[in-house]
Amino acid sequence: MKVSIFHNQEEQSFKAAKKLKELLLRFSFVLDEKKPDVVLSVGGDGTLLSAFHKYEKQLDKVQFVGIHIGHLGFYTDWREFEMEELVRTLNEKSACSVSYPLLDVVVEYEEGLKHFLALNESTVRRVSKTLVGDVYISDEFFESFRGDGLSVSTPTGSTAHNKSIGGAVIHPSVNAIQMTEIASLNNRLFRTLGSPIVIGAHEWIRIQLAPSDDYTITVDREMVASKKVQAVDFKIAKERIHFVSYRHLHFWNRVKESFITGQNSNHAFDVDIWV
Ligand code: NAP
Repeated sequence: MKVSIFHNQEEQSFKAAKKLKELLLRFSFVLDEKKPDVVLSVGGDGTLLSAFHKYEKQLDKVQFVGIHIGHLGFYTDWREFEMEELVRTLNEKSACSVSYPLLDVVVEYEEGLKHFLALNESTVRRVSKTLVGDVYISDEFFESFRGDGLSVSTPTGSTAHNKSIGGAVIHPSVNAIQMTEIASLNNRLFRTLGSPIVIGAHEWIRIQLAPSDDYTITVDREMVASKKVQAVDFKIAKERIHFVSYRHLHFWNRVKESFITGQNSNHAFDVDIWV
């Protein structure tokens, strides 16, 4: 099996990546950065996002594993001290794998279309003035949006920026994408739905923008060129991200530990919060 290690610049990740390399060679894996079967990401969720984009043109052949350094992540389910166990499971034919939806983004420029894939989300924003755009769902006009912008996220991205702007947390097994408003204008003149919407596999979202050359369009960590953007289309991508040696840690426990309790999970009736 050909493997590649992708790590961030933190000293702890460097050290873990070195140890992982030794383990992989000991277990007769072949290191191949260009055409790996498995990419092992060492760092955090942000590191896995970068690893994903490095190999996004090979998603039909590449599977990912996330090793987290420090705190628990959503894409990273193995810890540094478990690397030997991980390397052993990679060698087993029965290694569990899972795949999750991605977001297909098509940006319509004056001079043509450009296609992107997002693992977490894509946002359309305007900083200098109010963003004005018409939202269509599967070719039907839905609403005229005014505000700072709109975000469209995947289920695995729902715990990232989407959550910070009031979007729902969605279980990664749900084949859907979510559009969430960023500071929408709602007054006696302008109206938007005011809550996130979740669309399914046979639908798509189009944001038709008013003419302007100062939109900001992001795809995960990247800001993509946004001069003369006329519209942006979003749908569930035909590609998916595949994880191997995946451990079915309880998703909602991860959500709880990341956002509510840390590592301690007290029930409300265990602590004195009702007085
Ligand atoms: P970054 O520093 O790499 O990430 C910002 C934080 O978001 C980090 O704590 C990262 O976790 C966490 N994160 C990334 N993907 C996540 C996921 N799917 N679920 C839960 N947490 C996640 O920032 P960046 O390079 O600018 O952007 C990477 C991503 O971070 C973006 O796609 C965006 O979703 C998110 N972000 C969120 C906010 C916000 O909530 N206001 C602001 C900026 C960016 P690790 O520490 O494990 O890497």
